[in-house]
Amino acid sequence: MRLSKAFTFTYVAVLALAMSLFASCSSGTSSTKKTLAVSFAPQAYLLKSLAGDRFDVKTILPQGSDPETYDPGVGDLMALQDSRCYFTLSTPGFEEKTLERVRANFPDVDVSDVSVGIERITGTHRSTHGDSHGDDGDPHLWGSVRNARLMADAMTGKLCEIDPEGTALYRHRNDSLQRVLSALDSRLDSIVRASGSKAFVMPHPSLSYFARDYGLRQVALETEGKEASPAQYAERVASAISSGASVLFYEKGHNPGQAQSVAEAVGIPAVAVSLNTEQWPAEMLHIAESL
Ligand SMILES: [Zn+2]
Repeated sequence: MRLSKAFTFTYVAVLALAMSLFASCSSGTSSTKKTLAVSFAPQAYLLKSLAGDRFDVKTILPQGSDPETYDPGVGDLMALQDSRCYFTLSTPGFEEKTLERVRANFPDVDVSDVSVGIERITGTHRSTHGDSHGDDGDPHLWGSVRNARLMADAMTGKLCEIDPEGTALYRHRNDSLQRVLSALDSRLDSIVRASGSKAFVMPHPSLSYFARDYGLRQVALETEGKEASPAQYAERVASAISSGASVLFYEKGHNPGQAQSVAEAVGIPAVAVSLNTEQWPAEMLHIAESL
């Protein structure tokens, strides 16, 4: 509590100073802001495809950071304050913390939830904070091309609202993007079918939507954000074997640790993945091709 108050005080003080320094340069209207903010890199891929030459796009979650634990800093909040609009997915963890601070300190920042219309999977994911968060649905929405298509539609609607001059352009680009995403979805489906794979293993269940889209079973190794006990570990290995898992995925940059030994015990390859990237279509293909 004390830390969080001290933090709030610090960034408000820094921002007040920054605003007084730049007040004379600012026109005072939000419509002149040329930056849009997103939480996650896959959203940046979508938004740049739609608005890349009309706005700069700033991603708040740094590459390789954990979306459930990352703590937004003063620089992140200043970038948000300077943004014409912040496109969120309304997920718990870092995004929830960021939104609380933005709303408390910069109520004028336009926030747009672009996850509207996405049907969230429940029962696959629990809070890693060990708190008693209810099950608001699995937050790893970017593991699905079908979810991404809904995000792109919602972004297009908001872009037309904040920059009406670009309406025809945004709609035309969204049509092209939807064709690209539809083709990617079909290709992923064919690759998964051709692989004959029925399941995969992951330490943290971050591909629930991918599994849903392509009829796969995701076997998670952790329990409420913690590594499994030896008894649970043996059970998970047995479960991975019986489900016919063909590969173990783990987050790039994380120590595969126990995951690696499970992969060895089951006799399947361990493959590093990272969906928190603007090269998101290529990473989705990499996942499917590893099955
Ligand atoms: Zn998660």
